[in-house]
Amino acid sequence: MFEKAEIGIPCPKCRHKTNKTIAWIKAHHEMVCAGCGSTIGLEKKELISGLDKVDKSVAELRKTLGGFGKRR
Ligand SMILES: [Zn+2]
Repeated sequence: MFEKAEIGIPCPKCRHKTNKTIAWIKAHHEMVCAGCGSTIGLEKKELISGLDKVDKSVAELRKTLGGFGKRR
């Protein structure tokens, strides 16, 4: 569902953020930093906490949309 959402992955060495989609992250377990060229291991724990945030904001959005739907 969030496959197309982008997450900024910060490089631990140079702090350059690289945006990758969740679908891309699922298919890879490491990435190359565009800033310094070092290989970054993709830590699933961090990504899951990022997904939680996305999930909450979507829930908020649904509440708002639901409010509109219930108008009489
Ligand atoms: Zn870097």
